[in-house]
Amino acid sequence: MSDQFDVVVIGGGPAGYVAAIRCAQLGLNTACIDQWINPRGKPVLGGTCLNVGCIPSKALLESSERFVQTRHELSDHGVRVAGVELDLDAMLARKDRIVQELTKGIEQLFKANKVSWVQGRGQLQGGKEIKVTENGREKPRRLSAGHVILAPGSSPLELDHVSLQGDIVVDSTGALDFHAVPERLGIIGAGVIGLELGSVWRRLGTETVTVLEAQDTFLPITDEQVAAEALRIFKGQGLDVQLNSRVTDCKVEGQTVEIQYQNDGGEQRATFDKLIVAVGRRPNTDALAADEATLLLDEWGLVHVDEQCRTNLPGVYAIGDAVRGPMLAHKGAEEGVMVAELIAGHSAAVNYGAVPSVIYTMPEVAWVGETEQALRAAGDAYRSGVFPFSASGRARAIGETGGFIKVLADARTDRILGVHMIGHHCGELISEAVIAMELGASAEDIALTMFAHPTLSESFHEAALAVHQRPLHIVSHRKR
Ligand code: NAD
Repeated sequence: MSDQFDVVVIGGGPAGYVAAIRCAQLGLNTACIDQWINPRGKPVLGGTCLNVGCIPSKALLESSERFVQTRHELSDHGVRVAGVELDLDAMLARKDRIVQELTKGIEQLFKANKVSWVQGRGQLQGGKEIKVTENGREKPRRLSAGHVILAPGSSPLELDHVSLQGDIVVDSTGALDFHAVPERLGIIGAGVIGLELGSVWRRLGTETVTVLEAQDTFLPITDEQVAAEALRIFKGQGLDVQLNSRVTDCKVEGQTVEIQYQNDGGEQRATFDKLIVAVGRRPNTDALAADEATLLLDEWGLVHVDEQCRTNLPGVYAIGDAVRGPMLAHKGAEEGVMVAELIAGHSAAVNYGAVPSVIYTMPEVAWVGETEQALRAAGDAYRSGVFPFSASGRARAIGETGGFIKVLADARTDRILGVHMIGHHCGELISEAVIAMELGASAEDIALTMFAHPTLSESFHEAALAVHQRPLHIVSHRKR
């Protein structure tokens, strides 16, 4: 393999591998460096998302949901089942198989697109040179590139006074591999990861799930009405979410862990069988560039970039979790495509105003655009339309009537500014709102669009109608 490339990508996660594939499609001679080794000791592509993040967690979320439905909810449909048992080993094996198949798939895509996969750790040097410490080799290799794309991803944040210990105090990776259902589970952080993993283990039979959150607001990044509904539903499912609770100490004693935390009631103690630390992630930028490269990072360790992901170094771009914006696989992947296009001399941009977010709990929470509290704080004039799934025929037929869809539109132009959802399949439904916002749709455009009946997506139509006080399947008190 030659050591001279048009483009070298550091990182083979969703941002990096997508960037590499698009560069190759555009005729650029491309290499992608990745150091990930899976538990069987094999180098693999796909980064956090495929190996220990989005994909394995969704596999477990799905399996745990099927378990709960089969055990508790089928009788309502007139389906009697008996002797339902959990085979946790089989469930974990299924998750691992899915991960293997998908990571292998990226390898095949690289082969088909002629992307050179370099297995090892890459570090940017001066002058767009990259030093690679290849897995199992002592002497580093040096690659040179016309352009460099930095996509190193992120790692779980650790707390000073709560160090990870074996399979008792774990991060999000360890929490995907408990080989027995813990009776008492503690989670630090009521963010996306804490809620998704807490839901999985609660459904699989954990008796108490205690989620300790330092902030006094639940899910402040989501629309406040959705957050309030989510908190009510999650508490009903048995997640004991305690806000304003800051963990101050943690000790492992035998097979249990005791923590101390401070909340409104003063100093508290709790004992768990497992403790998950899910307090956010930090960019993997510590040794990403040698000093001589003079790559500019900000105070959070994020690579400093402009709107089009250009760093302070000519010809060097950075994308994904290592740069500003939400740490989401799809945001990184779109940045990867944009940068590939720019390198190939095309014009390209990412619309950061239309990045969807999904929390894969049951029901799912999903949103795009501005929240109502942000519009209010900015003093923007807006109209809101809400439609509850309890009024949807399809939601009733499938027995998933919790939650609602809310559409926020500019009071003057009617342009959609944000869409917020909580309910069954909202992670899929949100794409309709993303397309609407991407195309600059107004609430009226959606109101004038025909939706298939009976579907959950009709609720988006009704919420858009409700913006103008004319929903058809709920009573609006301000009719026109
Ligand atoms: P997060 O930022 O979503 O939530 C972490 C929570 O921990 C915050 O609410 C924070 O206030 C709390 N916290 C911090 N320190 C604490 C302390 N000492 N005690 C108690 N609470 C504390 O982070 P996460 O859930 O770890 O997820 C990390 C990243 O990964 C996020 O950016 C998320 O968007 C991304 N992610 C996305 C998905 C998805 O799209 N479905 C899934 C998993 C992860």
